[in-house]
Amino acid sequence: MKLLGVTLFVCVIWAQDIRAQKMSAELAAKGPGEKVNVIVQFNAPPTLNEHQMVQRHGGIFYRDLSLVKSGAYTLSAAELQSLAAEPSVAHISEDHIEPRPNQNRQAHVGVHAQSQSGLFYIGVVLPVGKMMANQMRALAAIARDCGDGDIRLTVWQNFLISGIPEARLVEAQGRIEAIGLDWKASSIRAGLIACTGSRGCRFSASDTKGHAEDIARWCEPRVTLDQPINIHLTGCHNSCAQHYIGDIGLIGARVAINEDGDTVDGYHIFVGGGFGAQGEIGREIFHDVKADAAPEMVERLLKTYLANRASPAESFHQFTASCDVAVLKRLAQKVVL
Ligand code: SF4
Repeated sequence: MKLLGVTLFVCVIWAQDIRAQKMSAELAAKGPGEKVNVIVQFNAPPTLNEHQMVQRHGGIFYRDLSLVKSGAYTLSAAELQSLAAEPSVAHISEDHIEPRPNQNRQAHVGVHAQSQSGLFYIGVVLPVGKMMANQMRALAAIARDCGDGDIRLTVWQNFLISGIPEARLVEAQGRIEAIGLDWKASSIRAGLIACTGSRGCRFSASDTKGHAEDIARWCEPRVTLDQPINIHLTGCHNSCAQHYIGDIGLIGARVAINEDGDTVDGYHIFVGGGFGAQGEIGREIFHDVKADAAPEMVERLLKTYLANRASPAESFHQFTASCDVAVLKRLAQKVVL
C-alpha cells in the first residue's frame, strides 16, 4: 500500500514536470488577459480534432505548420495553462512567430500600387455585394482590356481588378464609374457587409441587404469617420455575415409590435467584435430594435465613439473594448441627433 502511495506521488511529480516542460517560461509569465501568438507542437501532425481542441481553449487558428507537427494560434495567456495540460500537446512556444500583418481595414478600396513595378490594382465598391449581369459583363471587359484579366473578391464583398498599367488607370476608373460603380468609399460603406437576407434566404428574419443600404444612406451624410469601421448585418444565427466580429454587428430578429403576435423586421445590435490581432466576440448592446430604427442606432453608436474616444488615433474597436456595455448604451441613448 505504502509502495503504491510512493509510486503515485512520483507519477504526479513526473506528470507535473512533463506539463511544465510543455510551455516556455516566458509564456508562463504572461498576464492572464494578454493575447499571445503561439506555436503549439503536437505529438503527431495536427488533424481537425487538434485544431478544434485549441479552439475550445479560445484559440484562433493562424497558420498550419503540420509538416513540423505544429500549428500557430492566437489565444489568451489564461488559456495557455489548460492547453498545456492536453495530452496531445507536446510543447508550446512563441519562438519564430511573425507578428500578424496589419489588416487593410479600408478593404483595398481605391487605387493601389502592386509589388510588380508599374502595375496597379483598383478596389471597387460593390454595394452590399450586389451586382447586375450587365455590370458583370462590363467588369470582365475592363479587367481584360485594362488589367491582367483577373478579378479578385475581398472578404468585405468588394473586389479588385489587378495588373493595370499606369497608362490605363484613368480609362479603367472612368469605365467603372460609367457602369454605376465606384472605386472610392466612405469608411462606412467600405466595411459594410450583409448576408443574403430575406430577399433570398428563407432563414432570415430581416432584409439585411436592404437595411444595410439604409444604414449607409442614413449615416454617411450625418457622420464623418476618420477611422475604418466594419458594420456586419446577418439575418439569422448562422451568421453568414459574421455579425459577432463586426465593430458593429446586427443579427436579424422578428420584433413584436403588438400583443397579437404581429412582428416586423428588426435586429439585436452588438458592438466590439474584431478579427485578426484584434480578435474579439461582440457584446450585445441593444435588443429587439425595429429595422426602421437601426440606422439611427448605428448613428448614435458612431457619434458616441467620435465624442468620447481617447484620441483620434483610437479605433472604434479600442474604444468599445475600454467601455462597459451599460455605460456605452447610456452614452448612446443620450446622443442628440
Ligand atoms: S445568415 Fe442566415 S439568413 Fe443570412 S444568408 Fe446565412 S443562413 Fe441565410
